[in-house]
Amino acid sequence: MAGYIRELGYPARAHTNSDSEVLHNPLTILAGLGELSRIGEVVLNPFLGPRFKTAVITADLPMAVDQPIDFGLQDFCAKCRKCARECPCGAISFGGKVMFNGYEMWNPGVEACTRYRVTNPNGSACGRCMKMCPFNKKGLMQHRLALWVAIRMAPLRKLLIWLDDALGYGKRNPLWKWWLDLEIRDGKVSRPANTNQRDLQLKRPIPKNKIIPIYPVETIPPPGSHEAHPLDRQDAQARASKM
Ligand code: SF4
Ligand code: SF4
Repeated sequence: MAGYIRELGYPARAHTNSDSEVLHNPLTILAGLGELSRIGEVVLNPFLGPRFKTAVITADLPMAVDQPIDFGLQDFCAKCRKCARECPCGAISFGGKVMFNGYEMWNPGVEACTRYRVTNPNGSACGRCMKMCPFNKKGLMQHRLALWVAIRMAPLRKLLIWLDDALGYGKRNPLWKWWLDLEIRDGKVSRPANTNQRDLQLKRPIPKNKIIPIYPVETIPPPGSHEAHPLDRQDAQARASKM
């Protein structure tokens, strides 16, 4: 698309998740494609939930400008907390929003999430928060009534959240699995003894005073850096306690 816009005579540049000069989340929100969720740096679209990737094109092309949308997600996420309950490493806040890097948002535990995903020998990657979010539903048409209620009827949101659990949404379904659990140890490819087979934890108590460490922008690796970048977790926890 960027190439096509350039052919029309306007400067244009494509930004993907591997090569980008802009932050995608604020632009996605400004473009009216969703709202920021409790998961942290994840925008939810009312129809797709968190189940999408973004690509951005910056250009000088004159065009109509969209507005940000409000489909009630801030209130829904304040009542829901399903992603926080199901995150295996406690990287999602149970509490309220904070001011983080200039945005009012649920601060994500990026360091804990990344460490869990890339160092777990029993299966890397995770995405459990996104898989079980009530806005992530297969079969949009069959859920359109629930979506309509979630967006328009704030007093019924707690009931919908309870119903989502009661109907077992977010349970693992091995039939949908398409990958092979394999790992390489000492140069040999083998099946790991224990893959991540965690199921819904409906009874997990909500922790009181749980702190999500804060890593402001000056403490994180600069854009494009491929160097090891040590983070000070204790410092980040102390910073969060003060907020
Ligand atoms: S991807 Fe997994 S570890 Fe990371 S925040 Fe989501 S549930 Fe937690
Ligand atoms: S699981 Fe619930 S709290 Fe988490 S992002 Fe989805 S709607 Fe919000």
